[in-house]
Amino acid sequence: MLATSWVARLPPWLFVVALLLSSQARAEWLTQTQAIMGTEVSVSLWAEQPEQGRAAIAAVMADMRWIDANFSPYSPTSELAQLNAHGAEGPRPVSPSMAELIEKSLYFSELTGGAFDITFASVGWKYDYRKGERPTEAERQALLPAVNYHWLNYDKSARQLGFGHKNLRIDLGGIAKGYAVDRAIALLRRAGIRHASVSAGGDSRVLGDKRGQPWMVGIKNPRPHSAKDAVVTLMPLSDTAISTSGDYERYFIDAKTGERVHHILNPKTGKSATGVISVTILGPTATDTDGLSTSLFVLGVKAGLALIETMPGFDAVIIDDQGRVHYSKGLAPP
Ligand code: ADP
Ligand code: MG
Repeated sequence: MLATSWVARLPPWLFVVALLLSSQARAEWLTQTQAIMGTEVSVSLWAEQPEQGRAAIAAVMADMRWIDANFSPYSPTSELAQLNAHGAEGPRPVSPSMAELIEKSLYFSELTGGAFDITFASVGWKYDYRKGERPTEAERQALLPAVNYHWLNYDKSARQLGFGHKNLRIDLGGIAKGYAVDRAIALLRRAGIRHASVSAGGDSRVLGDKRGQPWMVGIKNPRPHSAKDAVVTLMPLSDTAISTSGDYERYFIDAKTGERVHHILNPKTGKSATGVISVTILGPTATDTDGLSTSLFVLGVKAGLALIETMPGFDAVIIDDQGRVHYSKGLAPP
């Protein structure tokens, strides 16, 4: 009785202040990193309610694992592996997310005159960068005719895909991580998160700012000599996606020829693209920046910058094989 009357005499605004202070004290930055999709997936977010923040991160990681299981060319049960195994037998129904990625890939193929082409995998599956293996000349020449997105018989209204060439294989490695990052950002937004950064290997997207300051995202030096020059430049970003494609992520040096054999293939030759060593794209969504970073890597400096200049909202930083850095007009130093 005594205690209640004491509490009742306190001014009501004091309760509001106490409530605000206690919830402020509980809000915090949460960060988690996991190995998924053959890369490092990292999520950082500002959680007003840490429990909800942790649940949102867990949901993002689960979604990334689902994407990996669905689009991995390596696990034989994935939808992608099933398509590769049976696509040449005739049209097959594809899932809505597969359809979305096929449509986006075909869009990039048309946009880039075939520099971006998921059928690169018809030759690409003969490369094993970890083991240092590449196709023999005979294999490359035998498989190259299957590399052509025009062999993809995609029926949008029926949502079916068939392969017009028996040696055809597809791989969505040039776009799937960006797609995963976009899904993560959408998921976090639905969960009420307003400040977050999500990255999957070289594909990142930031939601909002870092509470009053921009997120600082670095472009890796493709040929670092020491820890000191690990980053070429830091970009202050908010509400932006950024993707980097480099020839240093998955590669080996051919002992016989001295060539750097890396994972971005020129669909015209079935060999690693040459001329540039790193491409970074900035834009509104990570699916687009991912697809475009791979595309510009194949297109090279001149054609790549020309393409980006036609795309409002997108910018590029390209490092050529001489180490020169090229910027699109939106980023060029004055
Ligand atoms: P990362 O996987 O390092 O983020 P990128 O976004 O640069 O790399 O994409 C490289 C991946 O894209 C390759 O590992 C391969 O799966 C796929 N790929 C390679 N060449 C092409 C191409 N010409 N068109 C479409 N996808 C490609
Ligand atoms: Mg890419």
